[in-house]
Amino acid sequence: MGQIWLERLLRWNAKIQKLLVGRYARMDQLNNTLLKVSLILLLLNLFLPTSIAFWLAAALLLWINYRFFSKRIYPRSNENTRYMLKVQQLKKKFNFSKEKLKERKAYTYFKCPNCKQQLRAPKGKGKIKVTCSRCKEQFNKRV
Ligand SMILES: [Zn+2]
Repeated sequence: MGQIWLERLLRWNAKIQKLLVGRYARMDQLNNTLLKVSLILLLLNLFLPTSIAFWLAAALLLWINYRFFSKRIYPRSNENTRYMLKVQQLKKKFNFSKEKLKERKAYTYFKCPNCKQQLRAPKGKGKIKVTCSRCKEQFNKRV
């Protein structure tokens, strides 16, 4: 009896594997995020009078399926890489803003007029000569 179930399970497993051959078949970071967002939307849907959140969630789930079963593996992989880069940039920006906020009493933040590099100088020094750390442009700044 147990043997039959095991055989069925193995055959089912083989079928799935055959279905996934040559497909992306990965729950990468992008798919994970999409899944989380769609779950949140489904939850929101319970509290909203309209069904817009439901349809958005459905669209996201469709997108996840499309990515998961896609045969174009490299474009999907590139999408995920681009997504990861964006997340990294956002995190960096966020951390920088946090730091800026923490040190706003001690430092003035400004951009280089030449290359837009973010620079900072201690506050209360009066007029100072600034040399950009990236492009070596020199300019005066009141801090
Ligand atoms: Zn510069």
